[in-house]
Amino acid sequence: MELDRRSWLAGAGLGAMTAAVAGRARADAPTCPTGGGPLLLQDFRPRSMLHAKETRVATPRFPVIDVHVHFSFTAGGRKGVATGEDTSFTTTAKDALAVMDRKGVRAVMNLTGGTGKGLERVIAGFVHAHPGRFHTCTEPIYGEWLDPRYPQLQADAIERAARAGAKGLKILKALGLYLRERLDEGPLVKVDDRRFDPMWEACAAHRLPVYMHVSDPEAFFLPIDCTNERYDELGHHPNWSFHGKDFPSHREIMEARDRVFARHPKTLFVGLHVGHDAENLPFVSESLDRFPNLTVELGARIGELGRQPRASRKFFETYQDRIFFGTDAVPPPEGEKTPQQVFKDELYEIYYRFLETDDEYFDYAPAPVPPQGRWRIYGIALPDGVLKKVYHENAERLLGVKA
Ligand SMILES: [Zn+2]
Repeated sequence: MELDRRSWLAGAGLGAMTAAVAGRARADAPTCPTGGGPLLLQDFRPRSMLHAKETRVATPRFPVIDVHVHFSFTAGGRKGVATGEDTSFTTTAKDALAVMDRKGVRAVMNLTGGTGKGLERVIAGFVHAHPGRFHTCTEPIYGEWLDPRYPQLQADAIERAARAGAKGLKILKALGLYLRERLDEGPLVKVDDRRFDPMWEACAAHRLPVYMHVSDPEAFFLPIDCTNERYDELGHHPNWSFHGKDFPSHREIMEARDRVFARHPKTLFVGLHVGHDAENLPFVSESLDRFPNLTVELGARIGELGRQPRASRKFFETYQDRIFFGTDAVPPPEGEKTPQQVFKDELYEIYYRFLETDDEYFDYAPAPVPPQGRWRIYGIALPDGVLKKVYHENAERLLGVKA
């Protein structure tokens, strides 16, 4: 990852500037440069002069189920493809529960629950240890990808995971953007590759919703230049850029994904990050209209939703039965690298403020510089009926639980 970053910096000729941005983002009090000369973007820290209402929403109006957290990850793997069963934990159940209890979060869904022995550890340490508070997904067994029997082995693994207690399948961008014909070499495997058909069908048969994240913000597929609205973010995370090389376009991925939705109507899909196109709500709406087996989740996209508050509110009202609350939260210290998804009190308070109030022009992440793009957001003040569905009623149906 460091190597990726350095080579990108060298390639873009921006080393000094971007490194300075990274260092500054963590400083608490901004200090302005002295000595004249032009002001650099990295030093520009405007303080809003807007006199606007500021509402602190310490606890949600109704109980919350967060369907998108990362309390464990599969350790190891090859070039972005997880291949083993070893698990590393980003928190303990006890520490997670402290935040959840303070912030009115009744239950969470840990998406990256892994496979085999790793999945069993997650289930023992979180799901069974604290009934009703933690749920977990399983993930594909890409370690078996090179075995010609993979399609059937994968379907069998889904059945075993369901029996062990997994409540869903998480699909990361490994599918479509990292997994290759010979695992880490050769052409990229497409999202609608037929070898995954038995996996999608097994999910339907065992009632595991598929939590899918196969594409990213549109700007990640465009050149990192002076027109890219996520220039800062891509500077901090250059390996998030999918521009050039042999990467498919954002649109090609979405089309392949849509063919999967169409081919597996009995499988329920949760399109993470607002169907991975929060900046294009007309397209997400069209997808929801076309595919009754599609639902969406909010994780790490209130920065997008909140800069189009009128369209967002309409979207929530129209699709109120098919939207889940999620944050994509990763506990510190790991989560601090991406403040828009750091698992802590402040993050939940921002989500609640966005959904519940009509406050104007506030930060979408607990960070001195907006980490996903230099803009701020507006609350959408959802009515109680819609809020209740988004906060927990829809998720109760998804998980088959009562909050
Ligand atoms: Zn996530």
